[in-house]
Amino acid sequence: MISIKAVRSVASAALYLSACLAFANIAARADESVPARDPKQPINEAYTAKIKKYTTAPVFTSPLVDYLPASKNVPTPDAVLGDVSGAPGILPYAEDVYKYMRLLEKATPRVKVFSIGTTEEGREMIAVAVSSEENLKHLDENRARLAKLADPRTIKLDDAEADRLVAQATPVYYITGTIHSPETGAPTALMELAYRLAVDDSPYIREIREGVITLITPVVEVDGRDRMVDLYRWHLAHPKDFYPPLIYWGKYVAHDNNRDAMGVTLKLTENVLNTYVGWKAQVLHDLHESVPYLYDNTAGDGPFNAWVDPILTDEWEMIGWRNVADMTKFGMPGVFTHGIFDTWSPGYLMFTAALHNGISRLYETFGNGGADTEERTLDADEYSRTWWRQNPPFPKTLWSQRDNNNYEQTGLLTSLHFFNENKRLFLKNFYLKSKRSVTKPTQEGPTAYVFPADDPRLELQTELLQVLQKQHVEISRATSAFTVGLPAKKPKKSAKKEDTKDAKEKAKDAEPTSREFPAGSFIVRMDQPYSRIADALLDHQYWSPDDPQKTPYDDTGWTFGELFNVKVFRITDPKVLDSAMERVNEVKPIGGVQGQGSIFAINNSAEPTLATLRYKLRDASVEAAEEPFEAGGKKFNRGSLIVRGVARSDFDRAATETGLHATAMGAAPSVKTHPVRAARVAFVHTWLSTQTEGWWRLALDNLNIPYDYISTQAVAKLDDLNAKYDVILFPPLGSNYSSTAIINGMPTTWGNPLPWKNTPETPNLVGKNDSTDDMRPGLGWPGVAHLQSFVAKGGVLLTAADTSNFVLSIGLADGVSVATPQKMNIVGSVLGARLIDAASPIAYGYDENVPVYCDNGPIFLLSSIAGQRRQRRLGGHTTSRPTGRGTADDPDFTVGRPGVDAPEEPTAELWEYPPVSDEQKRNGFRVIPPTDRARVILRYADSKDLLISGLVDGGDEIAQHPAVLDVPSGKGHVILFSINPVYRGETRGTYSLVLNTILNFDSLDAGRKSAEK
Ligand SMILES: [Zn+2]
Repeated sequence: MISIKAVRSVASAALYLSACLAFANIAARADESVPARDPKQPINEAYTAKIKKYTTAPVFTSPLVDYLPASKNVPTPDAVLGDVSGAPGILPYAEDVYKYMRLLEKATPRVKVFSIGTTEEGREMIAVAVSSEENLKHLDENRARLAKLADPRTIKLDDAEADRLVAQATPVYYITGTIHSPETGAPTALMELAYRLAVDDSPYIREIREGVITLITPVVEVDGRDRMVDLYRWHLAHPKDFYPPLIYWGKYVAHDNNRDAMGVTLKLTENVLNTYVGWKAQVLHDLHESVPYLYDNTAGDGPFNAWVDPILTDEWEMIGWRNVADMTKFGMPGVFTHGIFDTWSPGYLMFTAALHNGISRLYETFGNGGADTEERTLDADEYSRTWWRQNPPFPKTLWSQRDNNNYEQTGLLTSLHFFNENKRLFLKNFYLKSKRSVTKPTQEGPTAYVFPADDPRLELQTELLQVLQKQHVEISRATSAFTVGLPAKKPKKSAKKEDTKDAKEKAKDAEPTSREFPAGSFIVRMDQPYSRIADALLDHQYWSPDDPQKTPYDDTGWTFGELFNVKVFRITDPKVLDSAMERVNEVKPIGGVQGQGSIFAINNSAEPTLATLRYKLRDASVEAAEEPFEAGGKKFNRGSLIVRGVARSDFDRAATETGLHATAMGAAPSVKTHPVRAARVAFVHTWLSTQTEGWWRLALDNLNIPYDYISTQAVAKLDDLNAKYDVILFPPLGSNYSSTAIINGMPTTWGNPLPWKNTPETPNLVGKNDSTDDMRPGLGWPGVAHLQSFVAKGGVLLTAADTSNFVLSIGLADGVSVATPQKMNIVGSVLGARLIDAASPIAYGYDENVPVYCDNGPIFLLSSIAGQRRQRRLGGHTTSRPTGRGTADDPDFTVGRPGVDAPEEPTAELWEYPPVSDEQKRNGFRVIPPTDRARVILRYADSKDLLISGLVDGGDEIAQHPAVLDVPSGKGHVILFSINPVYRGETRGTYSLVLNTILNFDSLDAGRKSAEK
């Protein structure tokens, strides 16, 4: 703990230090101006006094922000806030922040406000440009210069021309605030920053204004900001009560909104990405608040993302360390770079810049989650001194929003100043990184990625290409067939001895081959400026279990081709670039109906839009084929849809919109079918966490699958769930909540109710999501009973990861248990899985190999005995003979009696039910009859084939275990997923495992074999 006195003495030391620095700076380089106010410019005394009042210790400010210059015509933030930026008790809505930015725009030609799109709930997003009048007058000419640097093909990779452009161009530094809604300080800091940049005539600020275009999106998560401000207002109105936690941020996801920079499924990602690329900005600097006092976590720790240019990693260090030095010189404690964050996953918003040839940056400053001034106690690992944090924060700190705003603004201003001083270097780097992206095929490669036109999943292929187009990647289509060389496959190391057939096949694989791709195949050329993002998304990831980094910060694998279940070829042969091709401006789904007749058949390739089509054609008769068949000269997979009772024009429109190809026929094929009805779906959420289920809602909404969104509290009140619903989806909570927490909710024996509903103080809280008078109660035992009765009476309950653990804990799936992992560590990886029961409707449309997303998923164990766990096979079986006479191959030998042969022990694979022994069959009332056992739909691959992308350590613990199970329970079914099939818009290849369950809810037993071994 540090006393106030100690803080003061640190403060006076800092003042002394800055006085020394002022002296030292005389010798500084002529172009390195030091912060000094313009003596001719008066300061705004009232505003400056408030800044001082709200700053809790003199060391928590800097000469850059401890005053505000006065202006006769430009309004200060208090015009909208009613007080200064960072004042206690004041948290503006996005609307108020915009209002201020637009007041600035009216008052000064140095500010321009641009609308950059809307959110899921229709709120506006803006970008505010602040620069000299001259710079803002010539934005278009400047953008044209930057565009040439951004795409060096336009200047034929001419370095001399690039140098001329570098000398003339004004760089763009893009700052984004409050993507994370409980991190509340950025908007007021950015309001004041805009004012300072527009008004302050000190040489330090003037240089920034004249040298750089600062672009500011003050609120990234606008929907979440308004909810957060609501909650803060509720807290102010009920100062003695606990306040509700921010359960929803945006409409769909919370903290994960900063994990969407790969899939670009959220509006905020798309709007910021388009602004960043559209302005040809050099930097994207994203503001967060979770670490005392300012952590520049851009560089963090290893491993660094393997696809970024080393020029960038050098820029991280340059700007980061300089930032630390500058703020330390001001006497501000607790400013550091590096630290625990690893820079592997490209899912963070800032990575938009990293993989589009810019500079990604991220600050964590210290926030109180609102605008209260509070005494904060830090953990030892937050205030300890380390090599990367030589001047750590204090163990105890009285902290205000103003302190936070001081740190944010000081960090940004020193960054902008340093960036401006070195802007020719950074602009040249921007050009070089872009050029190196264009020359990628002749440098590190690959030359291209190819998406073959004969992929059976053309609709999913289109969706993947559309993600790449959102990322501004250029896509071409082959106008004729072409052949390219494929490199030899490296043989996989295998512990087992190979039989000769395997060995022969491997030898064949080791030969280089060539492959012909049909006309119409899509090609992503790597000789384009944004080749790096395409490469990062489409390539495979390998995180070594021996990596010194033992706690990956986020997912370790994400290969999009695998997770979309589409074919993607990484090509290194330069010949591919000479193939005949044309640029495709917009990749659109192509579907429709061919042939004559009033019966329509659609092949099932596990494409999610099949479900969309079913719901679109609500009144049509739709059946699923239970076996493969041929009709109209075409082959159809199991699960293909046969549609009747709909006008051709209506059907054709629906097929076109869903990107599905259908064949019309005069007579139905002779194949066993069952009806595919539009199930009534309930989507259950808790009031504990909506983070991970949000991605499921987003996927269903995008596919236009209707559902009722109900909480566990609603389940507790609904006596007859079957009357309303056929299928209940209970997606993962994703935050390590226990089964007990799902049942009990939050503590209700003390404290006050935590309402989540619209009130005069909280007009934005609910939006289009759910509401409750009190978030605290959970599912409760009545809810458990309702779920049990729903399944017993024939309902289908689908769960994944932690909710699978939950339904197992309430006894809804006898014969299935979960093993405790010993050493297994699978952190957000892409794994191999194998189809086991292709006849199950859940598996319709899938091939034998299905890539899946797994994040330390539960290890399912099957037991044939009700109420018992299967014995795990840890280590090898005792199959060798006991110690005794003779050799290892001789039978054992007992003195004084003739030898006996032991009966052969029946064995079963890990994904199979263990055979019931003769002993277990004696009075075997607990033996689960074969018809009551789970069907194993998917299992994890063998250990050696488990890893596709990411980190797999101790993978043999989950290898071969079931990954998706259909467990009969009463008259209904419990569908258990160990994987998460619907995740961050990235796992579209496994969506159909969920959608097939919905479509075939009343025929899940189709194709069931009940053979017992
Ligand atoms: Zn954050």
